Amino acid sequence: MNIHEYQGKAILKSFGVRVQEGIVADTPEQAVEAAKKLKQDYNSDWVVIKAQIHAGGRGKGGGVKLAKNLDEVKEKADQIIGMQLITPQTGAEGKKVNKVLVAQDVYYPGESETKEFYVSVLLDRAKGRNIVMYSTEGGMDIEEVAEHTPHLIFKEEIDPKVGLQGFQARKIAFNLGLSGDAFKDMTKFIAALYKAYEQTDSSMFEINPVLKTSDNKILAVDAKVNLDDNGLFRHPDYEAMRDESEEDPMEVEASKSNLNFVKLDGNVGCMVNGAGLAMATMDIIKLAGGEPANFLDVGGTANAQTVKAAFNIILQDPNVKAILINIFGGIVRCDRVAQGVIDAYKELGDIRVPIIVRLQGTNAIEAKKLIDESGLKVYSAILLKEAAALVTKVLED
Ligand code: GDP
Ligand code: MN
Repeated sequence: MNIHEYQGKAILKSFGVRVQEGIVADTPEQAVEAAKKLKQDYNSDWVVIKAQIHAGGRGKGGGVKLAKNLDEVKEKADQIIGMQLITPQTGAEGKKVNKVLVAQDVYYPGESETKEFYVSVLLDRAKGRNIVMYSTEGGMDIEEVAEHTPHLIFKEEIDPKVGLQGFQARKIAFNLGLSGDAFKDMTKFIAALYKAYEQTDSSMFEINPVLKTSDNKILAVDAKVNLDDNGLFRHPDYEAMRDESEEDPMEVEASKSNLNFVKLDGNVGCMVNGAGLAMATMDIIKLAGGEPANFLDVGGTANAQTVKAAFNIILQDPNVKAILINIFGGIVRCDRVAQGVIDAYKELGDIRVPIIVRLQGTNAIEAKKLIDESGLKVYSAILLKEAAALVTKVLED
């Protein structure tokens, strides 16, 4: 689950990671109040107004703006709240901004230069270990750095038996070219960041930029946090941070019906039990000349209700030209699923796309008979190869 920058920073702060302080606001008036409070608490003359959406690259898209007085705070918050923000990560349609974070300006001039770094903690699946990834080239597109100057990105592997060691934090601070107070502060920053990542059951913490201020403090200016869905049950307070308006509405609905659903761009909707079979079905659809419109795993206990919920979700996608239902009856009996398909079909009415049902396993023959005799426009198959041929046929018709 992704969360907003302001929420990620609150989590970081609770683990002792220094962050650029800020207050979230829904309206330009609230933004002005927030700026006044930041002046009071942190003596911040200038503030930055930062769009809160689940996507990076906001600065480039005009979603991060510096305000030098209260009039500018109001004006810029007014521009950003309600805008459709397009960044390299949102896709062409962009994302609507509902909230801004009004944050203290941390790029103030002082005894030394400010410097931006990149630091993230994530799971390296190939190594089976968490790593701290870091670079002196912070602030900008890390993808760009990875492509053109990969030697400027460093990785520190963490041994799960002992966790992040002091020498590793010092090595990172040293490789980032720091010395004196900033060096010490960076080692603390890295240790606290790693602890936050580990204890929150996260799959990624990406801080870009990590800033060395002109008075040699290290702090997180940005926070991109991804919490592992499978660990969320241990953190009800983080679960409450979910912002459904940022998620695909079809995926939200699917998760409410306990369906594993990922929307894709193709034209054949799939309804399958089991993730492995779902992957294989997507391959078959491609082989048959179609493109899967989604990944949908109805789980091992599919019944008439799950089938109906799945239908409902797939049919909301206007790109869907055919639906392939591929169920292997093990624990679930094929005739029950077939009845579910027939019931859902009748109840939903007006289903405008052909449906191909392939049921294999327990009671497959009975299931095929049920469907063939239902009088509905449903094609049934027992062999996957027959189902694939039917997909090709209905796409051509
Ligand atoms: P992103 O574009 O979505 O990654 O958003 P960031 O939070 O990383 O902010 C983008 C950029 O805004 C940063 O790289 C900074 O250059 C700039 N920025 C952020 N905070 C401040 C600030 O306090 N003062 C100034 N002057 N610039 C800031
Ligand atoms: Mn950033």
